[in-house]
Amino acid sequence: MDLGLKGKVALVSAASKGLGYACALELAREGCRVVIAARGHEALEVAREMIVAATGAEVLAVRADVTRSEEITRLVEATHTRFGRVDILVNNAGGPRPGSFDHMTDRDWQEAMTLTLLSVIRLSTAVVPIMRRQRWGRIINITSTSVKQPIEGLILSNTVRPGVIGFAKTLANELAPANILVNNVCPGVMVTDRFRETIRARAAERGEDPEALIEARARLIPVGRLGEPQELAALVAFLASERASYLTGTTIPVDGGLVKGLL
Ligand code: NAP
Repeated sequence: MDLGLKGKVALVSAASKGLGYACALELAREGCRVVIAARGHEALEVAREMIVAATGAEVLAVRADVTRSEEITRLVEATHTRFGRVDILVNNAGGPRPGSFDHMTDRDWQEAMTLTLLSVIRLSTAVVPIMRRQRWGRIINITSTSVKQPIEGLILSNTVRPGVIGFAKTLANELAPANILVNNVCPGVMVTDRFRETIRARAAERGEDPEALIEARARLIPVGRLGEPQELAALVAFLASERASYLTGTTIPVDGGLVKGLL
């Protein structure tokens, strides 16, 4: 299927590793010109080189922390200056810290809101005027299955991520007449650096074998295995494409059947 993405400009935040990187790579494979952003320079440069080597696409790497509004403004300006348009925004960020209610301070709550919710609002605010002028745009937010079914021990994610869904659904309604479509994707358990670090830390804490923990996780998933980042990226590329022209305001899990609810 031709996704009709050739020549489109895609901005992917938090894209030097993991899910963001996989999305940037997939969009580049489909013919997009890609802008990747993250805080760390070295990993960002390695990611840029890997995407160029794999796809031959034009890739701009911009250092930007999505918790800082001035860096978001600079990131979108750099994208527009280089390519003259922004067709696709993939909103991604690091995850809010794990823990339960008793362990959270006011500062933890504020940081989670800035990282997870405000970053999406600010990046959308910066790109929407450009997309309106183009009369074409796609905004895709990477969230978590915590928006469908709260995850034990992740009170920040369970609380703040649903705000992204409410924002996205409202934005989808308001921007549909301008041909700007807004959707959310919910990764289940995907094998990324973040996942490996979490498993290693948990295994060390409990004195258990990390492989045994991974197998136990996989047994909870109907397809019987963890997900690969490119399995999320395939959906993101589809949602970014001309082929997804009648899809907006949706929230789609990519979780191997992990979520037990009906919707
Ligand atoms: P990852 O492998 O740790 O990659 C995170 C990426 O985000 C890195 O490129 C990192 O680069 C960048 N980043 C982190 N904080 C940033 C910030 N403030 N500003 C800009 N870039 C930032 O993580 P991942 O597993 O891909 O997870 C991505 C998102 O999906 C997270 O929100 C996570 O909670 C969510 N998620 C993941 C899974 C999963 O199974 N992997 C499941 C559900 C939800 P720098 O550190 O250099 O900035």
